[in-house]
Amino acid sequence: MRNDEEIWRLVDAKQGDFIELSDRVWGMPELCYAEHRSCAEHTAMLEAQGFRVTREVAGIPTAVMGEAGDEGPVIAILGEYDALPGLSQEAGVAEPKPLPGPGYGHGCGHNLLGSASMLAATAVKDYLAKNGLKGRVRYYGCPAEEGGAAKGFMVRDGAFKDVDIAISWHPAAFSGVNEPVSLANTRIDFAFTGRSSHAAAAPHLGRSALDAIELMNVGVNYMREHMPSDARIHYAYLDAGGIAPNVVQGFAKIRYLIRARNLPELNRLIERVRKIADGAALMTETTVEAKVVSAVSNLLANTPLEKAMYDNYLRLGPPEFDAADRAFAAEIQATLSEEDIETAYRKVGLTPKDGTPLCDVIVPLDAKTAPMMGSTDVGDVSWAVPTVQARGATYAIGTPGHSWQLTAQGKMPAAHKGLVHVAKAMAGTALDALTNPDLLAQAKADHQARLKRSPYVCPIPDDVTPPIGMSAD
Ligand SMILES: [Zn+2]
Repeated sequence: MRNDEEIWRLVDAKQGDFIELSDRVWGMPELCYAEHRSCAEHTAMLEAQGFRVTREVAGIPTAVMGEAGDEGPVIAILGEYDALPGLSQEAGVAEPKPLPGPGYGHGCGHNLLGSASMLAATAVKDYLAKNGLKGRVRYYGCPAEEGGAAKGFMVRDGAFKDVDIAISWHPAAFSGVNEPVSLANTRIDFAFTGRSSHAAAAPHLGRSALDAIELMNVGVNYMREHMPSDARIHYAYLDAGGIAPNVVQGFAKIRYLIRARNLPELNRLIERVRKIADGAALMTETTVEAKVVSAVSNLLANTPLEKAMYDNYLRLGPPEFDAADRAFAAEIQATLSEEDIETAYRKVGLTPKDGTPLCDVIVPLDAKTAPMMGSTDVGDVSWAVPTVQARGATYAIGTPGHSWQLTAQGKMPAAHKGLVHVAKAMAGTALDALTNPDLLAQAKADHQARLKRSPYVCPIPDDVTPPIGMSAD
């Protein structure tokens, strides 16, 4: 990894503080919209670094924004800090070992995500001040990426309306520019109401809401054969109607998560799922109420920004992991299957290599990737402003997302090196956009051309507000 550019030296100068921030957040895992301590840590760090702080962005208690610099273009760098349930794990141990407590863990690496993004923003701030340049840099601390779609609500509230470009990243097995492909999705709760009765003495008087949900699921499962191949539908019971089998379940509720390649495809699929829910209600003489919880858009690409970020990565070279980093990564790999590891290579279009448990390359921009698609609320930001995302190598190749193995690696020296490395790639890209008006103009023209083909329509219905209490349910 080269270090001969001033912006990268500014990243290095502050790396210690941000590694500590990341480790502290790792140690206080909090769920979707309940990231009060993590957000307080980020807010305190923004203040300590001299940013002008705006709390409760878009009315969300755990969203924060810090700005520095004057006039000029506005560059947003997006961070996250939410954790996941069921992924508690001791650090630095290559076997499942949950820590005492509620069982939450940073199984998606968002402790690193937030810290590296704020480190990049801090380095850009310091560069602007030292060189007397015009331009503003902002760090957006965005909560609830895991199922809360906070960025979509922030976009709808106008939080990015004066932003010129946005930059973000995600922890990964490999370093490179993230392919701008993700699925649009929506979460809808279907609540069925029937009529309770004694299941033996008066079954004919009961109308089962649980039956309705089961029939709805059967209907949706039959539909799977007839939907676009990259669409996905998942569901979870929120209320199965109680624990008494001798009571006809008068109320039951299920959450559906529906994903598709883009919003028009998603909307068609939602209509079909709603019809199936109505059909199940008709069959069981129950009623159904559907309520959208959250929704995100697919990602919109931006070719000029992707090229600019790739140039930064090429100048930087891959992260420099050492023998101890590789030894622990090899221990983690021993807990994975061949298929886990092969999938990780295939995903980024590289040929599997033996003896390299950690990334030692920059993934080429034109690699023939086979992305396994999830969804991200960065999608909505990418429709609002030209957006580019890095992937930064922080863990053993083949580590599944949302796994105890990922939590276990979240505050290892390799993760810290990955954090600093990707902060340099993002800070360099931000600086390019601030100092090169042509790049900014090209990024905006690219964005406008894409919007012209398919204008942005916010997927979150107007009457839906951020589900701030969702983790307390
Ligand atoms: Zn994530």
